[in-house]
Amino acid sequence: MRPYVTVNFAMSADGKLSTAERRQVKISGPADFLRVDRLKAESDAIMVGIGTVLADDPSLTVKSEELRRWRSSLGKDENPVRVVVDSTGRTPPDASLLRKGPGKRVIGCSRTADPVATGRLARYADIIVAGDDKVDLGGLLGSLFRTGIKTLMVEGGGTLLWSLFEEGLVDEMFQFVGNIVIGGSESPTPADGTGFLLESQFTRMELISSAPLDEGVLLHWKVKRARDGAPSSPETLGE
Ligand code: NAP
Repeated sequence: MRPYVTVNFAMSADGKLSTAERRQVKISGPADFLRVDRLKAESDAIMVGIGTVLADDPSLTVKSEELRRWRSSLGKDENPVRVVVDSTGRTPPDASLLRKGPGKRVIGCSRTADPVATGRLARYADIIVAGDDKVDLGGLLGSLFRTGIKTLMVEGGGTLLWSLFEEGLVDEMFQFVGNIVIGGSESPTPADGTGFLLESQFTRMELISSAPLDEGVLLHWKVKRARDGAPSSPETLGE
């Protein structure tokens, strides 16, 4: 079993997550910011790839005091468990997500991880080893599920999202499309990596809703092809 996985990202009108230099840019607006904060607060855990940690240094904390209080009233930590997918242990020990705000952290590494680096990171985070070279995402998700994580929000970036799609590990997707053009064939997109080569491999989704938001549009998708053992909704988890 694994957590129910909801992917969330903001992209430009031309389908880019950031600039070719991987510099973070403001794509959405205040209404989308609140929506993302709510989704974060409702999730048991939030995950990013090491590329995003190094590029953006996100804290991944819940920003609204009201939502943090709501989580506390349910007996939860103020912030969801923060998870980094980081094969070799490159997460800087002073990364914001390790230092800012209360709550648990997990670094998902592979067996290639430098023991000195993971030893240092173990002061701030639980270390889960899954996979020989890259992180075995199915294995990591299974381990997270066994620690009680039933719902997982994934913020990116494009390399991590691609692997999750490739491995059939995505259940839902929120896609904010902003009113800017970033351009650049090297700029990250929501699913980078090698891409599917055969139509039969494509991830197929059902559009749940589309609505104008801020100066863009929010699309909500549900993945049609669910793998064996994959939850079909957060409510059916554990059944
Ligand atoms: P990323 O997806 O955040 O992280 C990718 C890294 O994760 C890999 O290079 C790899 O590094 C590690 N990894 C380990 N196991 C993996 C596996 N099985 N599959 C995939 N990755 C694995 O990095 P990115 O693609 O460079 O994306 C960063 C960019 O995305 C930044 O520019 C950031 O601003 C942008 N971003 C935008 C949004 C948005 O909503 N607009 C959201 C998030 C990020 P190791 O081999 O070293 O482990």
